[in-house]
Amino acid sequence: MPQITLPALPWAKDALAPVISAATVEKHHGAHHAGYVKRVNALIEGTDYADLPLKEIVLKSVKDPKARGLANAAGQTWNHNCYWESLSPDGGAPSAALAAQIEKDFGGLDALKEQLVSKGAAHFASGWVSLTRKDGALHILDTHDAETALEHGHAPLVVIDVWEHAYYLDYQNERDRHLRTIVDKLLDWRGASARFEAS
Ligand code: MN
Repeated sequence: MPQITLPALPWAKDALAPVISAATVEKHHGAHHAGYVKRVNALIEGTDYADLPLKEIVLKSVKDPKARGLANAAGQTWNHNCYWESLSPDGGAPSAALAAQIEKDFGGLDALKEQLVSKGAAHFASGWVSLTRKDGALHILDTHDAETALEHGHAPLVVIDVWEHAYYLDYQNERDRHLRTIVDKLLDWRGASARFEAS
């Protein structure tokens, strides 16, 4: 049995349309994400990573110069797991506690959204933009390729994929417009609030 599994999507594959099409979701989850999961399982088999949970595989492999391939596959698996959990067609609003923290650290939700969009749009090449919590404060972090916020000691609240495969079918080269639309319409603030309160 594969040790690491592909999580099911938390909603129907057409639930994010028209912001993210069913075709994009299907390819992104069923080919890209599934491919990373498969690669992790192939690379950990028979090694001392074999019985570790994904989080531990990410944290251990990133420090292991002999495990670069595994670190990439595990980081991508982790980031995609976070990504799907960050999106919802009906994400509600930040809880009172998260809203107060957002006010303190960004001056309000609109300013936070603006920073998520601008940092993600300005990120060079493939990667991720995340809203995280570390040392009691909220941060917006961009990470390259398979790099995770996790390996820097940040708890991810919202993780957004800025690899081209996340938006090219629906938005072509318009990463900025894609980000602005998902940040306005699809972020799962209920989930982010639960992760904030657990962090
Ligand atoms: Mn992706």
